[in-house]
Amino acid sequence: MPVRAIDAVPRAGIGHWPTPLQRCDRLREALGGPGSCPEIWVKREDCSGLGFGGNKVRKLDLILGEAVRAGIDVVMTFGAVQSNHCRQTAAACNVLGLQCELVLARLVPLDDDLYEHNGNVLLDRLLGATLHVADDAVAGLQIFEQRRLALEAEGRRVLAVPFGGSDTLGTLGYVVATEEWADQSAAVGLAGGFDRVITATSTGGTYAGSLLGVKKVGSGARVTGISAYGDAASSATTIVELMSAAAADLGIAPPEPRLIDIRDEFIGGGYGILDGGVVEALRIFARSESLLLDPVYSGKAGAGMISMIRSGELAPTERVLFVHTGGGPGLFAYGDAVLDA
Ligand SMILES: *Cc1c(COP(=O)(O)O)cnc(C)c1O
Repeated sequence: MPVRAIDAVPRAGIGHWPTPLQRCDRLREALGGPGSCPEIWVKREDCSGLGFGGNKVRKLDLILGEAVRAGIDVVMTFGAVQSNHCRQTAAACNVLGLQCELVLARLVPLDDDLYEHNGNVLLDRLLGATLHVADDAVAGLQIFEQRRLALEAEGRRVLAVPFGGSDTLGTLGYVVATEEWADQSAAVGLAGGFDRVITATSTGGTYAGSLLGVKKVGSGARVTGISAYGDAASSATTIVELMSAAAADLGIAPPEPRLIDIRDEFIGGGYGILDGGVVEALRIFARSESLLLDPVYSGKAGAGMISMIRSGELAPTERVLFVHTGGGPGLFAYGDAVLDA
């Protein structure tokens, strides 16, 4: 790919930008106040607008910007049954006049009515996407390939968006988001910006783009990813690849791998499984700032941040940016469990 400035990447224009940057003093109070809790700011990627928003709109803005330019007419992607990424892809396709086919795999050991039909699945159906549900990842990928070949045989021009939208363009989306919060923090006079950025991570594009973006804007922030899926070592391998490709596209050097900081100790019972730490984080964020975290990703990131504050790893003198990646519709797939795991 040729070296290009980030502004030269085509955008689909599907999100509400800039998303707000919000100072959260009530959350700080709820976590012990200035004597024991850092200053907390939240980047509201949950407010990216389209189809209830979330971090995938940021990635799809670039991925589908390129797809529209390339004359794609069907978009296919893959995710868990309650995939936020699939819901945001379905929403993006509608406003761009693209057909959307989703393969949803049963990756979480939940099969009750709420999980299978409410939350993101309800929205996928309302948005009109074609759904294919598979019992596991292997079966899902088989269905995906069959459908893709069938569509291509009909002469359709198909774009297969990878898991979580984590490819080079998706990663560049989070470079854009990082430039956005860096500008916003400068505009409100935050000298020195942030000491730490915390985000949920799974397929890696949000983290990779954030760490690359921090380097690009010259911020000294350490970027910590709280894994919702995947151990720290394999996440880091993916992140190195994503950062290298995106940095090459921009003609800059990627961040050194030793700067990657992924925590996998908050995965708890596994991907998509609630635990007491997540339920507590959901409640604290909701009751202090009316921030609605999600059960699968941002709830784990919130639990991770709370734990790092309580252990003293995040000092009261620091300024922390929590990237709220969205996912709120997933709350309705878990029902009462989000109140008490
Ligand atoms: C997909 C998702 C993430 C993880 O982002 P990646 O770029 O896939 O690592 C975090 N939070 C929410 C709500 C998500 O839907």
